[in-house]
Order: sequence, then C-alpha cells, then structure tokens
Amino acid sequence: MDDCIFCKILKGEIPSSKIYEDEFTIAFLDIMPVNKGHALVIPKGHYETLLDIPEKELCAWIKTVQKVSGAVMKATGAGGFNLGMNNFKVSGQLVPHAHMHIIPRFGDDGLKHWGQGNYEEEEMKGFEEKIKESLK
Ligand code: AMP
Ligand code: ZN
Repeated sequence: MDDCIFCKILKGEIPSSKIYEDEFTIAFLDIMPVNKGHALVIPKGHYETLLDIPEKELCAWIKTVQKVSGAVMKATGAGGFNLGMNNFKVSGQLVPHAHMHIIPRFGDDGLKHWGQGNYEEEEMKGFEEKIKESLK
C-alpha cells in the first residue's frame, strides 16, 4: 500500500534496522522502544489487523515472532519478553499494517501490566455465551 510506512520500509523506501527477512515476513527494531531491543514483526503483505492475515502468512509470521523473540532475549540478556499487538484504532493501533511487538523484559524495568477488573454476578456467563455463539 502506497502510503503505508511499513510497506515503505519493506520496499526500502525508508530506512530501518532490519534484523530478519524471509519469504513472507520481516522484522526490524521499533524506533521508539519500550525497552532497548524492542522489535516489530510484520507480514510482507499489507494486512491491517490480525483478522486479515491469510493462514499461510499467519503461520509464517508467528514462526518469525518465535524465532526473533528468542534472538531478542539472547541478544539483550532479557529475562523474558512480552508480545503485544494492537488491532484497530481504538486499541491504540497507529500503523495500519499488522505487526507484533516483541518487548524484552528485565527484572527492574518498571513496566506495568494493564489494569484488571471484575464481572458482576452472571455477567461473565453472558460474555461466555455471546463469544461462543460468535465462534459458530
Ligand atoms: P502501534 O501503536 O501498535 O501501531 O505501534 C506502531 C509502532 O511503530 C510504534 O511503537 C512506533 O514506535 C513504531 N514505528 C513507527 N514508525 C517506525 C519506523 N519508521 N521504524 C520503526 N518503527 C516505527
Ligand atoms: Zn503496509
């Protein structure tokens, strides 16, 4: 897609710190890292969200996520990593080309997980049923 920043990175039209490439995917460093070594993995096809990626590319993409996650851990000496993916604007997705964030984590890095809440009585059952119905 012509005005997509990640497609431009793919085509080499703008520079990136590319760390991996294969037939279906590339990975490069996020320019504004949550922690240093923060990487992004994208499918080469311009798909906006997780829901749009066809199966073959999806499988290749998650394999690259696994491969690069191990390398990021090894290279940074991280004790672990978070995977994160924003899907659609309301979730905070700024670049509309599907990408997985790989964020190396260190014991003392001060990052906090998202907040969690509770369900009212019977409310959880309602969500369970609606989601199961939506899977049909
Ligand atoms: P998201 O909010 O999930 O869409 O995140 C987009 C990410 O892309 C942000 O973490 C940005 O720092 C990162 N980003 C934006 N432009 C570039 C670029 N030219 N090279 C590398 N990372 C980028
Ligand atoms: Zn794109």
